[in-house]
This record gives sequence, structure tokens and C-alpha cells, in this order.
Amino acid sequence: MLLDGKAFSEKVKSQLKNKVDKLRKNGIVPALAVIIVGDDPASKIYVKNKKKACEEIGIYSAEYAFKSDITQEELLEFISDLNGNKEIHGILTQLPLPKHIDPLIVAESISPAKDVDCFNEINIGKISSGRAKIFPCTPAGIIELLKENNIKIEGKACTIVGRSNIVGKPLSLMLLNENATITVCHSKTENLKAFCKQADILISAVGRPGLITEDMVKEDSIVVDVGINRLSSGKLCGDVDFDKIIGKAKFITPVPGGVGPMTIAMLMKNLVILAEEFTKR
Ligand code: NAD
Repeated sequence: MLLDGKAFSEKVKSQLKNKVDKLRKNGIVPALAVIIVGDDPASKIYVKNKKKACEEIGIYSAEYAFKSDITQEELLEFISDLNGNKEIHGILTQLPLPKHIDPLIVAESISPAKDVDCFNEINIGKISSGRAKIFPCTPAGIIELLKENNIKIEGKACTIVGRSNIVGKPLSLMLLNENATITVCHSKTENLKAFCKQADILISAVGRPGLITEDMVKEDSIVVDVGINRLSSGKLCGDVDFDKIIGKAKFITPVPGGVGPMTIAMLMKNLVILAEEFTKR
């Protein structure tokens, strides 16, 4: 069966719209600042989709586009101004950034109270201590999608392929908080197949088409494909051999239409939470 992230993300967004309406009635217009540096075509599409989701639910979004030769200092100064702007509740910088700008330094420069992507070390640390109010969007989207489909996480063997700071690592912590047993694989893992094959829930977040083949998947398992790859034909696909695995797995996410829309819905959720928290200050 398909884990339909597109349909569920629409449901999440309509629930969020009610919250946004309530905030607006109380004089708060939830607002997101989106910073884009350079002219990477994929980044432009991601930014466009995020702004569209904002519009759908009544969040104000402001886009700040900079040429790729902006210095790190100039960018940090701009973010510092946004940190102090009371009309803005969330700030994100679209990745990737040009090579001369360190994404970790940029993430640290965004105030934890406006860190809508949840990349700041303080917010990541709160996940570890169980005190988090917001979560990184892709891992949060995966967990909500599993729960919506009544997929039990507690006690299950979860294998995550990929250990990036934005997907694999935070997801491992969040699934651990859900009482799953976690294995994290990466580019140096020996015998990837054995770790994948033991998984009740297998999540691939690598960015390599065809990495996860049918023989690596346990019968009746849950397969979540985070990868987004564009083939030379122009077609989008994930990391998983979808056509073969759909007959073997109990549930599988499609690409597109699985994790991607959930990621954007969770971004909106984080923004609403940050705006609500702002009203309490
Ligand atoms: P990344 O490049 O930062 O990390 C990739 C990870 O894969 C690394 O940890 C690396 O060790 C691991 N890896 C590389 N080759 C491997 C191999 N042969 N076997 C096992 N592990 C291997 O990537 P990222 O930012 O985490 O993104 C991963 C993929 O997910 C990309 O395709 C990206 O476009 C996609 N993505 C999708 C969403 C979404 O919303 N659907 C969100 C974020 C990322």
C-alpha cells in the first residue's frame, strides 16, 4: 500500500489554516522569511513550493534573494536584522549555499526562536533531552506519515540509510524517542544489505537512484524513500526500486508524493508553533 504524503499533507495544512486564522484574529500574521542565495534551479523550485504552501494557509512569506557573491558576513548581518524584526516569526536559508558560506555557521546565526527548519544546535539538542517544541521537517514528516497510517514504531527495528544533519541523524534521535531500535547506515557501512534486510521500517535518505533493491527489503516491511533524484529523462525518482519493492513491502512511499509534501507541511507546522510561541513572550 502507498503512504500518500500528498493527501495527508493537505489534511495537515487545512488543520494549520485554522490555527493561522486564530492567530490572525488576535492580530498576529504568521510570517516566514525565506533567504535564497545564487540561482540554483532546484532551490528556486523548493522556494516556490514553500511560498505556495504559505499562501494556501495564510502565512505571509517574504523572499530575500541574493547573488552568489554575497559574503558570509553580509549574509549573517542580514539574518541578524531579521532576528530582531518583530514581524517575522521564522527564518530559513535555502540549501545548498555557495561554497564560501558555511551552512552550519548560518544555521547557528538564526535565532533558535525563529529557526523554522530546526537546524540550530540548541533546537537539535532539545530533541535529545526530550524538550523540543519544533522538529526538523523531513524526519517529522516521516514520523507523522507513519502514525497517520497506524504504523507501529515502538519496538520496531528501524534502519536509516544516510546520516546527514538534516535527515538521518535527527531522524535516528526522533525514532529512538518513539522507542524504536535504530541502525544508522552511511557511505562507509559494510554489508548495507544485511542491515536493510533486518528492518521492519527501512528509510533511505541518500540521493542515489536504485540504491535499495528488492533483495535488500524484508517481506511486509515499511519502506520510506526520502531520496529525490532527477534522471537524465527528466523524471524524478527516489533511492528505492519502487516498481519491484511495491509488491514486497507492506507500505511504501512514492517519489514524488511521499515524503516531499510532508516536509513542506512540517515547515508550515513549525512556523505556526513559532508564531504561537511568539504570542506567549
Ligand atoms: P547528504 O548528501 O547530506 O547525505 C547523504 C547521506 O547518504 C550521507 O550520510 C552518506 O553517508 C550516505 N550515503 C552516500 N552513499 C551511500 C551509500 N552508497 N550507501 C549508504 N549510505 C550512503 O543528503 P541529504 O541532504 O540527507 O539528502 C539525501 C537525499 O534526500 C537527497 O536525494 C535529497 O534530495 C533528499 N531529500 C529529500 C527531502 C524531502 O523532503 N523528500 C528532504 C531532504 C533531502
